[in-house]
Amino acid sequence: SAGPPGDAVQDVTLGVDEELRLEVEGKNQIVQVVMKDGTAEIFGTEMIKDTLYQFGTGAKIAVFTYHGCVLQIKGKADSVYVAKETPMIMYLNTHGALETLRRSADADGKRGPIVLVVGAQDVGKTTLCRIIINYAVRLGRRPIYVDLDVGQGSISVPGTIGAMLIERPASIEDNGFVQQAPLAYFLGHKSPQNNIPLYNTLISKLAEVVHERMESNRKAKSSGVIINTCGWVKADGYKSITHIAQAFEVDVVLVLDQERLYNDLSRDLPSFVKVVFLPKSGGVGDRSVSHRQEARDSRIREYFYGKPGLQPFHPHSFQVKLSEYKIFKIGAPAIPLSCLPLGMKGDETRTKLVAVVNPTAATLLHRLLAISFATDETQQDVIQTNVAGFVCVTDFDQDKGKMTVLSPQPGPLPKTLLLLSEIQFMDAQ
Ligand code: ADP
Ligand code: MG
Repeated sequence: SAGPPGDAVQDVTLGVDEELRLEVEGKNQIVQVVMKDGTAEIFGTEMIKDTLYQFGTGAKIAVFTYHGCVLQIKGKADSVYVAKETPMIMYLNTHGALETLRRSADADGKRGPIVLVVGAQDVGKTTLCRIIINYAVRLGRRPIYVDLDVGQGSISVPGTIGAMLIERPASIEDNGFVQQAPLAYFLGHKSPQNNIPLYNTLISKLAEVVHERMESNRKAKSSGVIINTCGWVKADGYKSITHIAQAFEVDVVLVLDQERLYNDLSRDLPSFVKVVFLPKSGGVGDRSVSHRQEARDSRIREYFYGKPGLQPFHPHSFQVKLSEYKIFKIGAPAIPLSCLPLGMKGDETRTKLVAVVNPTAATLLHRLLAISFATDETQQDVIQTNVAGFVCVTDFDQDKGKMTVLSPQPGPLPKTLLLLSEIQFMDAQ
């Protein structure tokens, strides 16, 4: 568990449009931040004066102020510095332009702006989404947040894409938007490249559901949609961006940092789509492959255990009789087109439901299993049905035909289909 913040205390005064950046690197460290005077926000969420905000290991934050503030920092924070140059005014202006579109949507009973955020890895896409959604929510809007980043997504566990209606600003300490039951679709891979046909199918389905939800909720309709993506922008990744733009009927594309991508999209997307270039913040740093893996692991750990020391959850562990459940994976291995049965397209094998027969420890141990809302594999569109949640296989007993699972909910599991994810989690609690 996390230790006390220690004795180190620093007071920092920020001027107009300045930002304090800090990281928490040490193991089991907690850094506390209090705003003593003025106004400040963290990625678009306002800080409340004299209130303690705690950040654990791995946190990388920026406290920004439009009018100046005094901060008190307690504990061992790393890479602490004040930045005078930030793109925040440009992000605020972008929000202003979106708000104008929302107001005219209100007046005409039309749909508010559908906004796509794209750019390479580590340019601040997720942070920009969070900032502009927070600004919208602070004005009473109820935008829908769509996260298509299967690797570093924030809606469910890695390997999913999803959407949620945002009704309150992101939690500063929880590092994002919190919702009990987000709409999640299962890909089962940490990168869309592992199954592009499935990724595209899920995007089309999610777009359809999001459009339906907008039609049934007046406030959500004029508030619009913010779509976050992964940093996959070249070759097939570029094609995937154009597919997303088409499926969601995107009105605005915000391109972070990459002029090449901005030029290509300006040329290739229909002229009614407004493509906007935005600079990245100097505070966003590159993350290594191992850092990304750690971020995925901690996302899964948080799904089951919450935040140790700050907001713990108490997951359940129980046995599941394999004979009572049906486990499937999605997609047979890609086969050369020439070997396919007549009339079948390559994509069809990649989006097919394949039964996992006689599973072994090697197939199941440490894997995530999605609990589908689908009850029957003969049901149409199982792959396009959203999932209720996830369990992790922590033990496997071949002789008894049982597995032990870690689950946010007490057992037994609902009698619906289980979908095998490629993603593994070592439960080291
Ligand atoms: P992307 O989604 O493009 O990969 P993120 O938005 O996740 O990028 O940003 C990468 C990291 O940088 C995150 O840990 C985020 O908290 C941090 N970050 C974003 N903006 C700032 C900033 N202005 N100062 C310091 N850190 C920041
Ligand atoms: Mg991101």
